[in-house]
Amino acid sequence: MGIERTFSIIKPDATKRNITGKVIAKLEEGGLRVVASKRIHMSREQAEGFYSVHKDRPFFGELVEFMMSGPVVVQVLEGENAVLRNREIMGATNPAEAAPGTIRAEFAQSIGENSVHGSDAPETAKEEIAFFFKDEEIVG
Ligand code: ADP
Ligand code: MG
Repeated sequence: MGIERTFSIIKPDATKRNITGKVIAKLEEGGLRVVASKRIHMSREQAEGFYSVHKDRPFFGELVEFMMSGPVVVQVLEGENAVLRNREIMGATNPAEAAPGTIRAEFAQSIGENSVHGSDAPETAKEEIAFFFKDEEIVG
């Protein structure tokens, strides 16, 4: 426990529908604070590099194309137990299985186009934050 940081992405299906504010409101209402944020259009290198852990999965190509299909918002979230808390607020990967009130239950369109990414462990969070942000871009 304790104050922790995690990495979050608002995915292209959400930026396209102009609901980044609604997604951020869920994160803030859930007790997390945005301490770094930028809107970017991912290159193929970034999308493939970021998701390299999934490179042998059957959905890898589709996932990379989707993440390059429009702008995303990459952000660092801070708060008590932030990694797990963010995963709770996001809900299950498949929106059909996501708990009511979660971001994915309310906004996701499919298991692939599921509106948000969140780190799955503190070590992954550190790596993912460093993939997109310099230390001086994070203002707590
Ligand atoms: P999470 O984002 O909940 O941590 P994973 O790490 O398992 O989920 O998968 C990474 C991302 O890959 C998912 O958020 C989703 O966008 C995509 N994905 C996962 N499983 C599938 C699938 N069966 N079909 C298409 N896309 C998928
Ligand atoms: Mg994951």
